[in-house]
Amino acid sequence: MKDSFGREITYLRLSVTDRCNLRCRYCMPEEGVCKLTHDDMLTEDEMILAVEAAASLGIKKLRITGGEPLVKKNILEICERACAVEGITETAITTNGTLLPQMALPLRKAGIQRINLSLDTLNEEKYRHITRRGELKDALDGIHAALDAGFEIVKINAVLIGGFNDNEIRDLAELTLKMPIDVRFIELMPMYDSGDFGNEAYIKGDTVLAQLPEAVPQEADGGVARLFRLPNALGNVGLISPISAHFCGDCNRLRITADGRIKPCLHSDDEYRIKGCSREEMTAVMKDAILHKPQWHGEMSYAERTHTHRDMNQIGG
Ligand code: SAM
Ligand code: SF4
Repeated sequence: MKDSFGREITYLRLSVTDRCNLRCRYCMPEEGVCKLTHDDMLTEDEMILAVEAAASLGIKKLRITGGEPLVKKNILEICERACAVEGITETAITTNGTLLPQMALPLRKAGIQRINLSLDTLNEEKYRHITRRGELKDALDGIHAALDAGFEIVKINAVLIGGFNDNEIRDLAELTLKMPIDVRFIELMPMYDSGDFGNEAYIKGDTVLAQLPEAVPQEADGGVARLFRLPNALGNVGLISPISAHFCGDCNRLRITADGRIKPCLHSDDEYRIKGCSREEMTAVMKDAILHKPQWHGEMSYAERTHTHRDMNQIGG
C-alpha cells in the first residue's frame, strides 16, 4: 500500500519485547523498563495477526526486533509463525548477539534468513561501559555462531559515537577483511532519554569515509545504507545517516511496538493502538497509520531531539 506521499510501504519492524539483558547508554535507562504487565503487551497470537494484517496490505519484509528479542521466552515460536505468514518473503532479526551461541541455529531453522548484530566497540572495557553490563566475548561468539548457522546475510551495526568509538572506525571496518559480513556505522540519534551524550558525540557518517580513503563506493542493496568496500574485503562497509542525510523520502517502514502500537515514523509521537484488535480491525488501523505517515522526521540534533517519548528499546530501532 502507498502512503499519502506515494511511498510503497513494504517493510515491517515488529518489536517483540522492550526488555533487554544489556543497558546500552544511548538506548535505555540503567534501571531497565518500567514493568508493564503481560496484559499490556501484544500476545504471540496478536503478533501473528498483526503480521498477517500487514502482509495483506503489501508488507513483504519482516524484521523482528526489541528490546532484545532473544530474551523473549517464546521467540522461536513467534519467528516460526511470523516467517510462515503468506506474503512475507524476507525475514530478519536484530539482536545484540550475546545469546546467539545457543539461539543462532534454532532461529535459522525457524525461518529467519538474515541477522543484524549490534557491536559498537572491540575493546572489552568499552563494551562493558557502553552496554553497562555486557561481555564483548559473548557478542563476538554470537557473530561466529551466526556465520556457522548459515544465515544468508550477517551485518554488524555500530552506533557511531564521537569521543567513544571514532578511533575504532578502521578496526571495526576491517572486520570485513576477516569475515563475510557487512559493517554498518549508524549515526547516533538523540532519543528521549539518551542525555548522557554531549554535542560532540553526534558525528556525521562521513567521518567514516575520511578514515577509510581506500573504500570504494558500491551499488546500493535496496537498504538505507550507503555502501563502500575496502580492497579485498569479504563484505561492505555501510553508512546509515538518519541525521546528516535522512532517507525519509524513501522510507518504506512501519513499526509495531511490543505494547501494541503502530508507529508510522520512528521519531514521531503519533501512535495507533492495535492491542486487543481483531485482524480486520488491525488492518483498518494500519491503513490509517500508513495514510498518516509523516513526510519526514523533522530537524534533529543534540539540541533538537526526537519527538517520540519512547526510548529506542521501546521502539526497536
Ligand atoms: N537489542 C537489539 C540490538 O541491540 O540489536 C535490537 C534492538 S536495538 C533498539 C536496535 C538497534 O537500535 C541497534 O542496532 C541499536 O544499536 C540501535 N540504537 C539504539 N539506540 C540508538 C540511538 N540512540 N541511535 C542510533 N541507534 C540506536
Ligand atoms: Fe538492549 Fe539493543 Fe538497546 Fe542495547 S541497543 S540496550 S542491546 S535493546
